[in-house]
Amino acid sequence: MKFSILADSLNKMELTAKRLELTQYLVELFGNTPQDVVSKIVYLLQGKIRPDFEGIELGVAEKLAMKAIAKSSGNTIKKIEEEYRKRGDLGQAATKILEKKTQTTFLVENITVERVYETLFKIAKLEGTRSQDMKIKYISSLLNDATPLEASYILKILLGTLRLGVAENTVMDALAIAYTGSKENRKALEHAYNVSSDLGKVAETIASKGLKGVEEFEITLFNPIRPMLADRVKSEEESIEKMGIEFAAEYKLDGERVQLHVEGEKVALFSRSLENISKYYPDIIEKIPKALLADQAILEAEAVAINENTGEFLPFQELMHRRRKYKIEKAVLQYPITVNFFDVLYYNGKSCLEIEYRQRRKLLEKIVKEDDFAKHVPMTIVKTENDIEDFLENSINSGCEGLMLKMLDKPYQAGSRGKYWLKLKREYRNELGDSLDLIVIGAFFGKGRRTGRYGTLLLASYDEDTDTFTSICKVGTGFTDEKLDQLYQILSDKVTIKRNPRIDSEMEADVWFEPELVIEVVASEITLSPIHKAARDVIRKDAGLALRFPKFTGKIRVEKFVEDASTNEEVVTLYKLQKKVAHDKSLM
Ligand code: AMP
Repeated sequence: MKFSILADSLNKMELTAKRLELTQYLVELFGNTPQDVVSKIVYLLQGKIRPDFEGIELGVAEKLAMKAIAKSSGNTIKKIEEEYRKRGDLGQAATKILEKKTQTTFLVENITVERVYETLFKIAKLEGTRSQDMKIKYISSLLNDATPLEASYILKILLGTLRLGVAENTVMDALAIAYTGSKENRKALEHAYNVSSDLGKVAETIASKGLKGVEEFEITLFNPIRPMLADRVKSEEESIEKMGIEFAAEYKLDGERVQLHVEGEKVALFSRSLENISKYYPDIIEKIPKALLADQAILEAEAVAINENTGEFLPFQELMHRRRKYKIEKAVLQYPITVNFFDVLYYNGKSCLEIEYRQRRKLLEKIVKEDDFAKHVPMTIVKTENDIEDFLENSINSGCEGLMLKMLDKPYQAGSRGKYWLKLKREYRNELGDSLDLIVIGAFFGKGRRTGRYGTLLLASYDEDTDTFTSICKVGTGFTDEKLDQLYQILSDKVTIKRNPRIDSEMEADVWFEPELVIEVVASEITLSPIHKAARDVIRKDAGLALRFPKFTGKIRVEKFVEDASTNEEVVTLYKLQKKVAHDKSLM
């Protein structure tokens, strides 16, 4: 397939922010894509070459790309830097520079998607001392044969600056339309995606085997399953209203969610955001096969830091000490953990997703032998508000965050925030002290002590209906110097020239970011706002909701996807709840 077809589509997509148009362009693109290239196209659209969990990163730095442009254009690095500074985007700078060149030379070859993909793959796999030179060679050979437009997209993919704003849902819509003629069939694609976390593989299946192939999609060991999530409730009373007569309550531990894939002695661990985190937990890799009575299994657990002397649970932040490149062995000794199992998703060749919770829990208790390291998450069956309150008290006293409530007769809903699981955190009982997880979408430069860093961040909540990130407040308090530095570093990788089309904000920031980072804030109140876009028109026409006196709690929620941030539905609930509390108080 000619790469020019893809480059033309990318060019059109970059110029629009409308989801319908994006879908249309994608449908056209898939229409022009041979079956065996579809998966490659899907990865490239997302600026990747393989699904995230494989951890294959292109990792090309700007400096290196500039050297490659210099090599194929015959210009000096200085000239390229100049052009880059003028345009603020290396892809566009390359277009300009290479345009001059193509006026004087002939193109040697038509480059194909396959060739670009294979070359990117080779670049990602290169390691060692000579790898830099080889990378330059590979890139410049592509640039030599590319048109200026093609070159600009090759560079954007390489540098990770291709920002189309196409969400996975949009890609799935387009795949359903292109290969089955109807958007309605997206459900089947979603299911396949939820059990494989590999959109390329799903695309390849729909293209080659049609809807039936996708419907028969099965769990594959060592391909992570997208996790089931919980809605929140604020009281024991509401829990009973939503869960019915009898249900399970488990401790909600404050650690890191880990999905374990085990086959004999082979173990892989995936985080909640599906990153392969095996390297941070050599202790789990070593000990779990011994605690497991199964040949093959996919299990879910919460890894929690503990005080070795007392066995007490320690907060989540303790675990983050393990996120380091070197000397992991030392961190393992310094920050011991226990692994607390709460679900089984696959057992000896069979999916357990359709099995009801009660049976899954039984199976889990049968196949995980408890010892000092491997535990079952404490669980009890509850019926009354008193039962819940007692168990919640126990959980908090053991250093946990609250309870997870789970319906006894329901399956495991991969990838969705269903109503079958609820979370009851203690802090939710104190309505306005509630914390929110919000997405960082923009920033304003700091003054005084904060010069050279971001002084204030612009935050957004997630709107599930429109799949957008709606501005909800600016936050400038609660930052220590250390956190400011850390945030500046994390965010500088996410700066964008063109605002991501999924961002919905009337307020103009100094800098815009790719919506990728979630942080936790508390606020004194939720108020109506003429500027902010969260839950616009829901409470009052032409008004959105905003946080008053927001404050950063210090928690950067690296383990969260932006789609897991607080939703507008939750914000509206909190808003109404605070009104109700104020009203009740006035009656007292
Ligand atoms: P939240 O991060 O507040 O949305 O809460 C959901 C998270 O709670 C999950 O992703 C898990 O990491 C964690 N968790 C702790 N205990 C449990 C449990 N018993 N069942 C499910 N998730 C749990």
